[in-house]
Amino acid sequence: MITVLRLGHRPQRDKRITTHVALTARNFGAHAILIGTEDRELESGVKSVVERFGGDFTIKTGINWRQTLKNFQGIKVHLSMYGQQLSDALPEIKERGGDVLVIVGAEKVPREVYETADFNVAVGSQPHSEVAALAIFLDRLTGDKWETGEFSGGKLRIIPDGRGKTVITPGKIPNYGECLALLEQENVPDDVIEHVKTVERLATHMGELARRNAYKADADLITAGALLHDIGRGTTQGIKHAAVGAEKLEAMGIDERVVRIVERHIGAGLDREDAKKFGLPVKDYTPETLEEKIVAHADNLISGSGWGGIEAALERARGHGEKEFEKMLVLHKKVGEICALDLDTLRWVVEDG
Ligand code: SAM
Repeated sequence: MITVLRLGHRPQRDKRITTHVALTARNFGAHAILIGTEDRELESGVKSVVERFGGDFTIKTGINWRQTLKNFQGIKVHLSMYGQQLSDALPEIKERGGDVLVIVGAEKVPREVYETADFNVAVGSQPHSEVAALAIFLDRLTGDKWETGEFSGGKLRIIPDGRGKTVITPGKIPNYGECLALLEQENVPDDVIEHVKTVERLATHMGELARRNAYKADADLITAGALLHDIGRGTTQGIKHAAVGAEKLEAMGIDERVVRIVERHIGAGLDREDAKKFGLPVKDYTPETLEEKIVAHADNLISGSGWGGIEAALERARGHGEKEFEKMLVLHKKVGEICALDLDTLRWVVEDG
């Protein structure tokens, strides 16, 4: 366990830099920060980051730093430009192992700290910043472990990519760009991404028709459900991709209604008997809500990233048995009623839209 002890924090002057010390400590593998001076605002700012972004980092301000230094069981490392060189001290610090208290100052650090510390360590011999010194020290101490550090339990989920980060807020419906970032993160193949974009265009159009026909079809839900329906194909191409995708989205905390759309999009729906036959967790996967029906059927009418139409969908369904054929007919009729037109006239949405 690594704890950072911040000395000499002046609430008015150092608020920003001490926040940076705390967040740097958290990112680079420390578990806690203790700050001599009481500063409620700083404390709640850092706590709110932990709440949103996860992990089990703790902050305490207004602690008795002398007592902390005296009572700490482990290695006390004071970072100071006047210390011994990092590369000289590091092997011994690592060899001793166990808990580490890393001390960084703000204003001038009292002499007794130099005397109480097991190591006074300089990161380079020039004066610079406690944030930089702490980051480099923690990086060297932990190897690159911090890079793979898990910050679980946060309210937000970060998807890094080369062009910037996507922040997903669990419980919310992800927007178009966030859905694409999720697909990329899950290594969904390019042709599948083209396919889901086409399904989204058709499903979105069906949603508009439904609303014109006084049905309450949620446009955001349809977009997210349509774009994410094949997210499981990053893992498996078999029939289990729907259940796998739903499970992944559920673990990410994505809105439950999106998860159900993904789970129930296979053909015209699978019942308990089908689920058993395909080795899926035994439950009913029949699309129930308006949005579930629209996405499942838009998917049925698309072939690859082009129009497939109902005849092709019925033929596929017949290949799985008479029951599947009947279910496909019923779903086609239902979605046709919702949209108040012959769905086979929607080919233009895919080809021109
Ligand atoms: N003037 C203060 C003093 O004499 O103690 C130090 C101010 S400095 C901006 C704040 C903190 O940055 C220091 O207490 C130390 O922890 C850290 N620091 C700055 N330069 C460093 C270096 N070369 N190596 C290690 N730590 C350094």
